[in-house]
Amino acid sequence: MTSQRTRDRLIERLYDQGITNHFVIDSIRSVPRHIFIDEALAHRAYEDTALPIGHNQTISQPFIVARMTEALLAGGPLKKVLEIGTGSGYQTAVLSSLVDNVRSVERIQPLQVKARQRLRMLKIYNVLFKHSDGGMGWPEEGPYDGILVTAAPESIPNELLQQLVVGGRLVIPVGGEDQSLYCITRTETGFEKDLLEAVRFVPLLSGVVR
Ligand code: SAH
Repeated sequence: MTSQRTRDRLIERLYDQGITNHFVIDSIRSVPRHIFIDEALAHRAYEDTALPIGHNQTISQPFIVARMTEALLAGGPLKKVLEIGTGSGYQTAVLSSLVDNVRSVERIQPLQVKARQRLRMLKIYNVLFKHSDGGMGWPEEGPYDGILVTAAPESIPNELLQQLVVGGRLVIPVGGEDQSLYCITRTETGFEKDLLEAVRFVPLLSGVVR
C-alpha cells in the first residue's frame, strides 16, 4: 500500500507540475508521509491530496508542500526558519533536512504532541516546537531567514513581517474563500510581494486548544 511504485509516482507528479528544486524533491522522497496520517487513511498517503488529521485540520497536499518549500529556499540557503501551523508535522519534517534550524508553532496541543513524537521517531533533532497562537510569530527566537505559514489569515500579520531578517522570505496563504499564496521578501527599504498561485488552506485561527 505504501509501495515504492506509489511513492515514485508522487515524485513524478511533482516534476510534472513544475517543481524543479532537487533538494526539495529528495526531501519529499525521503519523508514517509504515511506515518503522519491515521492508519485508516495511510493507504492514501502518497496521493497528491490534503487529508484529514483530526480536529478539523488537514495534512497539506504534497505539491503545495513542495511549492512552498521551493519558494522559501529560492533566495539561497536558510539558517533559521519559523513554521506556523505544525499540524501533522509533515511539512516540518520536509523542511528539517533543508535548513539548519526549524521553529514550529501549533495552536492545537494534541496535534503538536503527535507531531513531536513523529519527528523524534524519524530522528529529526533540529526542530523546536511551541504550543501557542502563531499569529504573533515566535519573537523570542527570531529574527528568521524564512517564515512559512500553513493556515490562511485574512491579511498578512505585521508581527510576522517584523520577525524577518533583511533578505528573509515569508511564504503565506492569504484570504477567506478565495485564497492566494504569496512570497514576501524583506528588503532594505520595505517588502516585495510576489503572487504564487491560488490555494485552499484551513483558516489561521486565534487562541489555543488544549
Ligand atoms: N503543515 C501542516 C498543515 C496543517 S493544517 C501539515 O502538513 O500537516 C494547518 C495547521 O495550522 C493546523 O494544525 C492548525 O491548527 C494550525 N493553526 C491554525 N491557526 C494557527 C495559529 N494561529 N497558530 C498556530 N497554528 C495554527
